[in-house]
Amino acid sequence: LASNGVVVVGGGPAAASLAKALRDRGFDGPISLVTDEPYKPYERPPLSKGYLKGERQAASLGVLPEEWYGLNDVHVRTRESVGELDTRSRELVTSAGRRVRFDWCVIATGGRPRLLSVPDLPAKSTRYLRSLADADQLRNDLKPGSRLAIVGGGFIGGELAATARRLGVDVTIIEALELPLLRVLGPQLAELYRAIHLENQVQLITEATVVRTVGTGRDGLKLVLSTGRCVECDVVAIGVGMIPNRELADGSGIKYRAGILVNEFGQTNVPGILAAGDVTEHYHPLFRQWMRTEHHEHALRQPVTLAETILGRRTPYVDPRWFWSEQYEYRLEVSGAPSLADTEVLRGDVGSRKFTKFFICQGRLIGAIGLNSGHDVRRAGRLIAAQGVVDAAALRNPDVDLRTLVLTAESSKVG
Ligand SMILES: Cc1cc2nc3c(=O)[nH]c(=O)nc-3n(C[C@H](O)[C@H](O)[C@H](O)COP(=O)(O)OP(=O)(O)OC[C@H]3O[C@@H](n4cnc5c(N)ncnc54)[C@H](O)[C@@H]3O)c2cc1C
Repeated sequence: LASNGVVVVGGGPAAASLAKALRDRGFDGPISLVTDEPYKPYERPPLSKGYLKGERQAASLGVLPEEWYGLNDVHVRTRESVGELDTRSRELVTSAGRRVRFDWCVIATGGRPRLLSVPDLPAKSTRYLRSLADADQLRNDLKPGSRLAIVGGGFIGGELAATARRLGVDVTIIEALELPLLRVLGPQLAELYRAIHLENQVQLITEATVVRTVGTGRDGLKLVLSTGRCVECDVVAIGVGMIPNRELADGSGIKYRAGILVNEFGQTNVPGILAAGDVTEHYHPLFRQWMRTEHHEHALRQPVTLAETILGRRTPYVDPRWFWSEQYEYRLEVSGAPSLADTEVLRGDVGSRKFTKFFICQGRLIGAIGLNSGHDVRRAGRLIAAQGVVDAAALRNPDVDLRTLVLTAESSKVG
């Protein structure tokens, strides 16, 4: 019987990584990717950084070289979306009216920006940043001297602010909490990011939300804030989080909460249906938690487990998690799950803006956050994965090479 192969819904890094992991492991059945975007899978991180600054061009963003797909017999259908998934007959229907049968369906549909619900927000001056098309539009807006208001001081908002400042744009950030990145980084590091934005002449308005907008004639826009204050701008960019594209699960029997639920093998509750990347809420055996992980490296690594599952092997996804963010001259890296810690240990000093914070839970390293800290956070990731008991004094001491701790922890784990 002919194999119907693997159909991947979505065309982001998770989709590309799945296809590559399957071919790398010798899978020779049909593989196709169906994506509603006009491009083959590309990297989104540069969209708020190098690409927006004009330092990188679209052709350099491919997750895999353009020719890889043809050479490896992976069929990519662009500008086509999947709206129906029949898990019983193992068929899906695309916007082009095609009915596609599959043995395995991988949902890798990522997410979309959460919309800001403010009355009268004029579409012509409102921007979101998720796709290459969004970045192209912003590239056009960010001219020296133009005024950009950013709603949301999270990673996307902060990176956009940093890039816009480099381009000579006047920037105002409007953040609902007391500090930017407060929930992810905690008060000390959030305070540091506040200082960094202020040094770069960003106007940072905190504990405020936009309640309505008023046109100011020509192309200008006035945002009226919950505090009564008004912000005038040419363009407003919204960075208030993302929503997983999990609608295919509706009515199909596939379980979801915020994202599509998958176990440590990438399996949903429906046989033959797997999911990976931003769209998932995945069980993480290392942290014994269900987690959402909306990061590039996760989108690349989790599909390797799915490829193993398709090939009949059970290789759990136990990656310690890692992501980065770049704002101005600062590179932040985060590994593990810092929010689960009971103790913090600092290596370096926050004031010098070159440090690593280690997060410990019941004697074991569970997370790390570093700023301009070289390889520390990646090495900490290996320590987190090894799950050995760590010596806080050694973590604190900058003269102790983290690799030594990694080797000790890994060998005691094997032993
Ligand atoms: C501006 C920006 C900057 C970022 N910077 C960083 C960073 O510095 N570090 C970091 O770790 N992460 C960063 N990220 C996050 C990272 O890009 C995502 O985690 C990653 O793209 C997730 O990959 P994915 O394949 O799961 O989903 P996506 O990249 O969202 O890809 C999903 C694709 O599927 C398509 N699709 C959706 N539904 C359907 C359907 N029904 N039919 C067909 N196609 C469909 C979508 O249009 C999209 O092309 C950034 C994200 C953005 C937007």
